[in-house]
Amino acid sequence: QAVFQSDIGTLLEQVGTGKESLSFMKRRIRRLAAQWASAARRLDDKLRSHWREQKRILVHVGFLTEESGDVFSPKVLKGGPLGEMVQWADILTALHVLGHNLKISVSLKELHGFLGVPPGRGSCPLTGPLPFDLIYTDYHGLQQMKQHMGLSLRKHKCHIRVIDTFGTEPAYNHEEYATLHGYRTNWGYWNLHGQQYMTMFPHTPDNSFMGFVAEELNETERLSIQRNKVHNMALVYGKEASMWKLQGKEKFLAILHRYMEIHGTVYYETQRPPEVPTFVKNHGLLPQQELQQLLRKAKLFIGFGFPYEGPAPLEAIANGCIFLQPKFNPPHSSLNHEFFRGKPTSRKVSSQHPYAEQYIGRPHVITIDFNNSEEFDATIREIMRINVKPFLPYEYTCEGMLERVHAYIQNQDFCSPEAPFPPVNSSRTWPGSPPSPFMLLPNSRILTWASNASSFSFWPPLSALRLLASLEGQSCVKACQSAGLICEPALYRFINIKEAFSALDFQCEGVESEMNHLFPAFSAEHAECGLQQDPLLYSCAGSSPRYQRLCPCRDYRKGQVALCRDCL
Ligand code: UDP
Repeated sequence: QAVFQSDIGTLLEQVGTGKESLSFMKRRIRRLAAQWASAARRLDDKLRSHWREQKRILVHVGFLTEESGDVFSPKVLKGGPLGEMVQWADILTALHVLGHNLKISVSLKELHGFLGVPPGRGSCPLTGPLPFDLIYTDYHGLQQMKQHMGLSLRKHKCHIRVIDTFGTEPAYNHEEYATLHGYRTNWGYWNLHGQQYMTMFPHTPDNSFMGFVAEELNETERLSIQRNKVHNMALVYGKEASMWKLQGKEKFLAILHRYMEIHGTVYYETQRPPEVPTFVKNHGLLPQQELQQLLRKAKLFIGFGFPYEGPAPLEAIANGCIFLQPKFNPPHSSLNHEFFRGKPTSRKVSSQHPYAEQYIGRPHVITIDFNNSEEFDATIREIMRINVKPFLPYEYTCEGMLERVHAYIQNQDFCSPEAPFPPVNSSRTWPGSPPSPFMLLPNSRILTWASNASSFSFWPPLSALRLLASLEGQSCVKACQSAGLICEPALYRFINIKEAFSALDFQCEGVESEMNHLFPAFSAEHAECGLQQDPLLYSCAGSSPRYQRLCPCRDYRKGQVALCRDCL
């Protein structure tokens, strides 16, 4: 039985010393300890009746190992990416607070020690059973485990979770399919289950959303922030001088400067970086805590288009800032932008921070075309006029993250062979048994399972499933979204059946079964129905004008998109 623990002493000891990145993580863990502790109390109350199994968990942070070059640690104090460090610190704290048995490794030596693999060159199979129930790592760590565990990795890989900021879509993950169909990337190819990849934002439902947390405020702090906002103070998002290189920035910075005092936290060594105009008040890179203080005063937090999808905008919004960011038209993707090239995703990024744009939106987030001077000018004046309250989506609070990680740990299982579907030899009778397992909701193209189907223990429960057909050229991500739902890849196996086509009124001339990341899908041109042959290719992402895809959508909790209503 796992017991919540709010004392972080042992966690801090385990994180170790000797690297700037580890010190950054420890400072963060200490600073947020009280917030985690009170979240743990609330979740403990909420889950009172639940048995939580204590898991043996290894966290191997591959990118921090010397063997992977550890390019991050030297940059911690120089404006390099801190988002990853923020996320790892929060993952470690969440696992610790949930009361699991945790081991942490940031070197190959530690990894070998924990896995019981003898050190040395070449691969050495792990002969005994894996001494962990779960291993959280990243792409670097995965590569290291492959090198040193050899073939035995394959046997144990269902226990692995890969922390993968931008996500990996099934078509890129499937080695054979990616090679045959042009989804080759620098990453990918691991043949994991899509939901074993865990992302920083809930952008690709094919992966699990891990996230991180932002600082929470009490009522007094909220009021004081609102009272003390400086309405003409703007802070620029971008701690590295290169982030200020955006073309055409002179024009909109001049407009902004007409109305507001502009601040920055750009790293510099001895003198002001030439990219930062002289009228900007540059504070230099600040410790997280001091950045929070600045955000409490600033009315506007403005992004120039890079970095993509970092934690800072959420922190700004949580401190009562309005986040103003550029819309990308056309959207950025691995096809047209260097940053995303070679990343295993086809996602089209519509602005600097699509989560802020789509999940938060106005009045906290304003996304506009920065080249349109009139619109930019009017927006700045509007921002100075309106009052907004500090806002933090529940999924980015400590309680929200604990709740989600708890649900994953207790329910996600990629090791057991899939239960047959429809269940055979079940002692219970299958409700509304095939050939017609779906019921049509009145006045809707959305179908739902016969209600008592949920009595079978799947996770997410079958009761959450809503079957939907996408439009031609539309992905299941979009199709579910447009119905106020979310695509749930774990439910694909229940709709990858002939009956699903007839339930949606598709008349199949023929039914084929194929490895195709768009299947199950209907092709109107040939009246062909395609079923998915390989469960690893079930994919919410992916679209083609030739197909209407069959989509397993589900409901979600307000502020906690990773979990369906009955998922806890
Ligand atoms: N940050 C900081 N000092 C600064 C600017 C940013 O400590 O002067 C922190 C900030 O609090 C955030 C983290 O850096 O949690 C990562 O921020 P960002 O959104 O820039 O993402 P990144 O590109 O670093 O992943």
